[in-house]
Amino acid sequence: MALRQIRTLGDPVLEKTCRTVKEMTPRLRELVDDMLETMYDQDGVGLAAPQVGVLRRIVVIDVGEGPMVLVNPVITETEGEQTGQEGCLSVPGKAGEVTRPETVKVQALDRDMQPFEFEAHELLARAVCHELDHLDGVMYVSKVNGELHDVVNEEETEEVPED
Ligand code: ZN
Repeated sequence: MALRQIRTLGDPVLEKTCRTVKEMTPRLRELVDDMLETMYDQDGVGLAAPQVGVLRRIVVIDVGEGPMVLVNPVITETEGEQTGQEGCLSVPGKAGEVTRPETVKVQALDRDMQPFEFEAHELLARAVCHELDHLDGVMYVSKVNGELHDVVNEEETEEVPED
């Protein structure tokens, strides 16, 4: 496994539509492992393949309930509404308020290309919507209510004694 470089806003790869995965090749398995490692390394709750420069319909998510791998995911139903803060590893240091469905139903394939379905609520629903948008070249910044704002990292603002 290896960390992959995360593409940031302005990189044209983030604006493209990803291709469907037809077969789980060794190379794509390695991609999934690398995406998980990269997401955890960056303390993210989700990562989509185009964020590491690969235009395939693959996302990984972990909102604190364990890793999920979604291949060719599709939202089949949405319900309700939630408005809250959202950020993105491809837009470092920023956040903004986005309105998303409160609940989504999802169909996807797992890393062994076995189909499964699940219902997601709250943060997981938000993460699913955010990551699936990436597969169609949509960045959350286009959905922000109002303006993006800077995220203040408390660790960085603490006074650190110099050596
Ligand atoms: Zn993102």
